[in-house]
Amino acid sequence: MGEPQGSMRILVTGGSGLVGRAIQKVVADGAGLPGEEWVFVSSKDADLTDAAQTQALFQKVQPTHVIHLAAMVGGLFRNIKYNLDFWRKNVHINDNVLHSAFEVGTHKVVSCLSTCIFPDKTTYPIDETMIHNGPPHSSNFGYSYAKRMIDVQNRAYFQQHGCTFTAVIPTNVFGPHDNFNIEDGHVLPGLIHKVHLAKSNGSALTVWGTGKPRRQFIYSLDLARLFIWVLREYNEVEPIILSVGEEDEVSIKEAAEAIVEAMDFCGEVTVSFDFRDGLSLDQGVQFDSTKSDGQYKKTASNSKLRAYLPEFRFTPFKQAVKETCTWFTDNYEQARK
Ligand code: NAP
Ligand code: GDP
Repeated sequence: MGEPQGSMRILVTGGSGLVGRAIQKVVADGAGLPGEEWVFVSSKDADLTDAAQTQALFQKVQPTHVIHLAAMVGGLFRNIKYNLDFWRKNVHINDNVLHSAFEVGTHKVVSCLSTCIFPDKTTYPIDETMIHNGPPHSSNFGYSYAKRMIDVQNRAYFQQHGCTFTAVIPTNVFGPHDNFNIEDGHVLPGLIHKVHLAKSNGSALTVWGTGKPRRQFIYSLDLARLFIWVLREYNEVEPIILSVGEEDEVSIKEAAEAIVEAMDFCGEVTVSFDFRDGLSLDQGVQFDSTKSDGQYKKTASNSKLRAYLPEFRFTPFKQAVKETCTWFTDNYEQARK
């Protein structure tokens, strides 16, 4: 069985972000148990790059459990520009959070890695044993090495102090409350925002890169349910990949098509490459192959998850995309963009 009930005060760092808001919703919708107290915090409560502010937060909340989501986060193009900032901010945040949790005697910490931190040159599917087997993709080495160090630190806290500090490894996440900023955000929220603008302006949709790279996407509300299961039931220090199956991986072109369909955008997605300027245009959707494709794929195995939770049902990709597009349209004014 999982942790004893009736005695949990769960601090969620990054509680105002995409994943944090999804956990808030799932808890509010009934997943919270009697005796569990959930405390969601953002950078307004404490700047976790600052050791003193982090310690003060942990002293005040005295969490028995922590879900650690807070991080500098961004899509491919933000990562390419700010590798140093991704490394420094995330290393500081992670060290401050893990050590403050240790100092106040937190029973369990679940941190968040990502499948983009795995080696670039690898065999597929990727599994949990392969995190440190070679350099990550050059586009996001700052973020990747900072995240990998969480795994190093978790093992060290266990070895020296017997702490249950662990981590989950989600694939690309999307959903309500994502960062829809076109320059900084991830591909799905970026394309949803671009389709919204293209519809308003009567212009074309530009998909960056060739559309050929492949990704496994997980809906934030599915990830939230899995996070809560990990918090209560998963007691390994070794991380666990939280992903849809390998068969559910889609190309960026297919992901763009799902958004075009969900938002009823009158553009048909086709790819062709113009060797003169790298830009192709067809019926409203263009692929700008002068822009980076990033990592071609990072196909992850969810065998470990399936061994624990064979019955877990993921929201179908098109349904989750539709819900996210609707949320963005309905919340356009307040959405992060
Ligand atoms: P997000 O929407 O950008 O939210 C980031 C959260 O971190 C916000 O709550 C933010 O607070 C907080 N934060 C950032 N800097 C902080 C600081 N210095 N002090 C305190 N809080 C700070 O990110 P997300 O997509 O939910 O990501 C959550 C976790 O999942 C991250 O660890 C990320 O690496 C991981 N992950 C994300 C994806 C993805 O596709 N999005 C994929 C795999 C793993 P404010 O709102 O106050 O700024
Ligand atoms: P990654 O999965 O960590 O590489 O990050 P992203 O979520 O940013 O996805 C990047 C992939 O989507 C690359 O192949 C990009 O070329 C492609 N892509 C296409 N259009 C966009 C867009 O508007 N924004 C972003 N971030 N990526 C895009």
